[in-house]
Amino acid sequence: MSSKLSLPNEPRANGFFVDGVWNSGSDYKRLDRVSPGHGAVVSSVTLCTAEDTDKAVAAARTAFEGFWSETPGAERGRILLKAAQGIRAQLDEMAYWETLETGKPISQSKAEIEAAADHYEAAAGMARLITGETHNAYGEGMIGLVTKQPIGVVGLITPWNFPFIVLAERLPFILAAGCCVVLKPSEMTSTTSLMFADILAEAGLPNGVYNVVTGVGPEVGEALSNHVDVDMISFTGSTAVGERVLEASKSNLKKVGLELGGKNPQIVFADANLDDAADGIVFGMCFNAGQCCVSGSRLIVEASAADALKAKILDKLSKVKLGDPLDPETQMGAIVSPQHFNKILGYVEKGTAEGANLEIGGTSAEVSGGEFILPTVFSGVEADMAVARDEIFGPVLSIMTFETADEAINMALDTEYGLAASVWSKNIDKAIGVIRKMRAGRCWVNTTIVGGPEQPMGGFKRSGTGRECGMMGVEEYMETKSIHVVLGDREHWVN
Ligand code: NAD
Repeated sequence: MSSKLSLPNEPRANGFFVDGVWNSGSDYKRLDRVSPGHGAVVSSVTLCTAEDTDKAVAAARTAFEGFWSETPGAERGRILLKAAQGIRAQLDEMAYWETLETGKPISQSKAEIEAAADHYEAAAGMARLITGETHNAYGEGMIGLVTKQPIGVVGLITPWNFPFIVLAERLPFILAAGCCVVLKPSEMTSTTSLMFADILAEAGLPNGVYNVVTGVGPEVGEALSNHVDVDMISFTGSTAVGERVLEASKSNLKKVGLELGGKNPQIVFADANLDDAADGIVFGMCFNAGQCCVSGSRLIVEASAADALKAKILDKLSKVKLGDPLDPETQMGAIVSPQHFNKILGYVEKGTAEGANLEIGGTSAEVSGGEFILPTVFSGVEADMAVARDEIFGPVLSIMTFETADEAINMALDTEYGLAASVWSKNIDKAIGVIRKMRAGRCWVNTTIVGGPEQPMGGFKRSGTGRECGMMGVEEYMETKSIHVVLGDREHWVN
């Protein structure tokens, strides 16, 4: 049996990384990070300024114009492959820091870092496969070409809930496309993104292609979003901040990709394998302590199966191992911050006040000195209650019931969001028929949460714009150019 890791002897003081150089200095203010699972300061980040952001953008621009946009896809791919090897070689250390800063279980961090390596490997192949089109519609005298070229300097803003895997769902595809990056990770969880700078350099990524400026959103994130020399912003985070980023991007009408929140339905029909469904639903709501954009937080179950499914869910939830995130046996970890902890418990109060039935949980738990909330289930939830409408971003499941498939579809669609949806049924015709009606970018039949680097991910409605991963995730970071080539001589005046 593997043993539990311990806290670092002293907090890790992170610098920031611009043009291949580590920067940090006594003249900078710093922000401490308290480990959500332990209540102890484990690291700190440098609070960069708008001026640091300018320098990082300038370095990225120089690298882009100077060489990276013209570096062959095969070469870019080789660097991404080496980066994947570097991640695998440092898997344990990266997982350790990911767990300390996020509060997620160490086993989950390891799986996420490994999955991240997989994304770099997949994107390495895609870097060689960027294609265009030819058109012969003009007859013998002219040929039409449609080519793709990298969009330029990309400002990448990432959230705290999946720091390294969210980065991996974007960065390798951006680098495969031939773009250069200025990353602003969440101020709470910057360490793994910073560690990765050394791994990329070791893999042969030239200076200026990957730059990381750390600090808070209103300072660094805003400076990046309204920077006139940034060609595109890829933002992942809350819908409220996404709207601010969109506003700031008007400075130069830059392209904006937004990966935002969700309030994701799971429709369970009575003919589903209810044990599997209960298992998936419990996994989905406890995974990352529910702090997951695709968490299936709205359970819409056929009335005739509701009691049976609820009993199975409550039984499985009572066995979930909530514990110290550094313990390899732990299945569900901590809540990211005291503010977020209070927000989740506030929703529990609202749910109870609005008349939903609290079936289990609803309180904090004393575990290892940090902020923990027991898995919580509300039944008897009505469509207009806050627990049915808002993204709570915690281990809270809201149960509603339906009689007909049409009713289930309407209930599932009754949300401003459109990120993910699941349907559980053994009748594949019915399941596919219902999933086709969902307005959500990531859908599942008889499962939840899973995903990989091959299939695109993104939102409908207020869950965002654009797609990450797959060849689409490479093309997202490219401009399309049409070229008309005259063969031989051509008269331009027709009269
Ligand atoms: P957040 O919106 O608070 O912060 C996200 C990032 O934006 C952070 O780096 C933050 O510092 C930065 N930021 C804050 N203010 C800014 C500003 N004015 N200008 C520019 N940047 C600013 O989100 P969070 O709390 O870190 O993450 C949770 C949210 O992320 C949830 O809503 C979740 O659904 C969403 N999310 C979505 C996906 C997806 O793929 N759709 C994936 C993960 C998380």
